[in-house]
Amino acid sequence: MRAEVRVSGIVQGIGFRPFIYRIATKYGLVGYVRNRGDGLVEIVIEGRKNRIEGFLKELRHKPPPLARIYKITTKYSEETGEFKNFRIIKSSGRLEFSGSIIPPDIAICDECLRELRDPKNRRYNYFFITCTNCGPRYTIIERLPYDRPNTTMREFPMCQKCSIEYRDPANRRFHAQTIACKDCGPRVYLTTNDGEIIECNDPIREAGRLIEEGYIVAIKGNGGFHVATATTISEPIARLRRVKHRAQKPFAIMARDLEAVKTFADVSKWEAELLKSYIRPIVLLKKSEDYYLSELISPRLHTIGVMLPYTGLHVMLFDWVKEPAFVMTSANPPNEPIVIDNDEAYRRLGRDVDYILLHNRRIAQRCDDSVVRLHGKDPVIIRRSRGYAPEPIRLKIPSKKCSLGVGAELMVTACLLLDNKAFASQHIGDVENIETLNFLREAINHLVRLTNSRVEVIAHDLHPRCNTTRLAKELSEKFNCPAIPIQHHHAHLACIMAEYGLDEIVGIVCDGFGYGLDGQAWGGEILYCNLTEFKRLGYLQPQPMVGGDLATIYPLRMAAALLSKSIDVEEWLISRSNLLPHGEIEAHLIAKQIKDGKVPIWTTSCGRVLDAISAILGICHERTYEGEPAMKLESAAIGGRNILKLEPKIIGDNILDTSFLATRILEAQKNHKIADLAYSAQTYIANGLAKIAIQKAEELNIRTIAFTGGVAYNQHITETIREAVERNGMKLITQRLIPPGDGGISIGQSIIAAKLIK
Ligand code: ZN
Ligand code: ZN
Ligand code: FE
Repeated sequence: MRAEVRVSGIVQGIGFRPFIYRIATKYGLVGYVRNRGDGLVEIVIEGRKNRIEGFLKELRHKPPPLARIYKITTKYSEETGEFKNFRIIKSSGRLEFSGSIIPPDIAICDECLRELRDPKNRRYNYFFITCTNCGPRYTIIERLPYDRPNTTMREFPMCQKCSIEYRDPANRRFHAQTIACKDCGPRVYLTTNDGEIIECNDPIREAGRLIEEGYIVAIKGNGGFHVATATTISEPIARLRRVKHRAQKPFAIMARDLEAVKTFADVSKWEAELLKSYIRPIVLLKKSEDYYLSELISPRLHTIGVMLPYTGLHVMLFDWVKEPAFVMTSANPPNEPIVIDNDEAYRRLGRDVDYILLHNRRIAQRCDDSVVRLHGKDPVIIRRSRGYAPEPIRLKIPSKKCSLGVGAELMVTACLLLDNKAFASQHIGDVENIETLNFLREAINHLVRLTNSRVEVIAHDLHPRCNTTRLAKELSEKFNCPAIPIQHHHAHLACIMAEYGLDEIVGIVCDGFGYGLDGQAWGGEILYCNLTEFKRLGYLQPQPMVGGDLATIYPLRMAAALLSKSIDVEEWLISRSNLLPHGEIEAHLIAKQIKDGKVPIWTTSCGRVLDAISAILGICHERTYEGEPAMKLESAAIGGRNILKLEPKIIGDNILDTSFLATRILEAQKNHKIADLAYSAQTYIANGLAKIAIQKAEELNIRTIAFTGGVAYNQHITETIREAVERNGMKLITQRLIPPGDGGISIGQSIIAAKLIK
């Protein structure tokens, strides 16, 4: 009998053909296996019927750990007798199917790690040690099928020893496209910041030593450059903050191992699992009681972003040092994507760092580290990038059309939706300038090419002046298909509906900003929606944004707006005018604009309310990074109690009074601790939103309430809403697969657009 088998999914680049080879020979079958240009694996086998059945059973039930099989199709026919043995043959460029894809980058596996440490092994101390089970994938692949000539490894012809391993079915590196060794593979160099090579036997460990000594070192990884410093001394971190113009934004760190992490942070069982997983994201952990690293790493936050080494190079960095961890922050010029090119590194980073550790392998796709936080055991993804992308998110709602979402403004990703699979790109960033816009455009082209798909509709934000909206118009001409605007908060909720397979929902969406149907700045919304429509059921009290964007940067402006209903804000602002960039003049101006009521932009944003409370409590007066005042408020509330026990004050039956909250917080300031007031304020907002949502859900006879948007990263607010919803016998759902922040917007956009076109 003959069987022609096609397997779709993530089946290239994870040792799938070697696996097929092994089971085919085990069952005594003849024929071949090969990769195809559309990402499928094609198998032809001939042999006895029961043996073919045994083969297929193993294919289905025991695939390699990193494989993701979406579909297996089998066609039977008469045996031809054309084969003498079973072989892995040359890939074909055939393009027939859509939606198969290559795997994400995979952290160094235990076996490779063992070999890296084994003096008798050929790859002892070789930084680019990988095998079929580990190593970079997405970041080295230029096109499919996944063969060495289609990757940036093509510049390194295999030496004889490597090529013997590559052809040996019993070897772990059988057909491993990233196979390399000291003799034939990428090399690593340590240079000064202007490119002068530093002669040393061990550039990696030498770099580690320099970092420990207090130097700033740029390090080329798999998906881009990092900038590294020590963590137990503050001087280099302070210097890095000065040159990077990052006054306060937290830096991620890389710890030598899990034991080291436990010396400065609390690590739950689930957090430990995530830290050690092959994804190896940055996990936001709670600083422990005996936290001893520099306070400058994540100033005035209760959390610290930690990851573990994920390449041989990272592991070796720590060999000669005592530092428990290094700062490892993406090397990107302000508002630009992460640097990947060697020349660019000297040009763009040279002035800011002391040394550069780099290798001579090109990076095909830039990819930042992923960031995840856990609420108990629920993952809340902040940035879905390395280790995740381009693996699709499996949705519970299939779509008939192939749609493309381009995101909104901040934390942008792109998403290509095919059937029930959302292929989200790596993290692109804030699309404010030409560099990030180009990066987005490239990432979209790459996704379309890799998945071999034909885009039928493009979804973009409702905001007419977004760069991504402009890009959508351009792409709609290129792909010759319609472009549809999708409201921001509707897109947030579509993600959660698709994650849970629900056709309608009452959702609370809280974030910083989303363009509303009325052209105003929405961001504290309670919506009813299904996948094609939504209705606004409730929201936070609209407040004037005095000075537009300035009100986002200087939260005192929002505080004044909220307080203006109960006190004379002119006097209040003057008493704080030292906190305003233009002092008393600015205080007068803000007060006058509020009094005259001539503020064009009003906002219902939950982020802005949290900012205002943060400013009233003196926690944060200037936002130097996205979410800063609200994040610092959450940190300030750790250990606090609900001392004020405020009953939510609802205006009409669907607007939560936030001026009332601000006034009460201001009044209580003299008599209570900041932690208790920060805690009470967050509790008020959570309870108020929950109260409106519960009442509206009851009226509509809906039993499930969703909570999403960037504010859903806040654990206290999320848990308080959950308690209130559950007390009323309803269920609260939150996102676990798709980021609740704006990194998920492209996914929600693509889901709605696919439903909107017939
Ligand atoms: Zn390995
Ligand atoms: Zn070699
Ligand atoms: Fe948002």
